[in-house]
Amino acid sequence: MLEGYCVKCKAKKPISEAVEEVMKNGRKAVKGKCPTCGAVMFKILGGKAAPAAASVAPETAEVRPDAAAPAAAGTSPA
Ligand SMILES: [Zn+2]
Repeated sequence: MLEGYCVKCKAKKPISEAVEEVMKNGRKAVKGKCPTCGAVMFKILGGKAAPAAASVAPETAEVRPDAAAPAAAGTSPA
């Protein structure tokens, strides 16, 4: 189960109805709902240098979007 931060509950919640998406820049994200209040939750999974793999996701190992990711100027989220 993926966890995300619900801005309404101001707490971490498991993401309900999580759907994995790939954004234009090749990064993976998960979109879902807060199980408590129903607010939309959006979690960016990253896709580049992932820190220590706490949760094993074998399927992501095959995807190498780095070659097809043009560095768009000025669009790097903090
Ligand atoms: Zn919530």
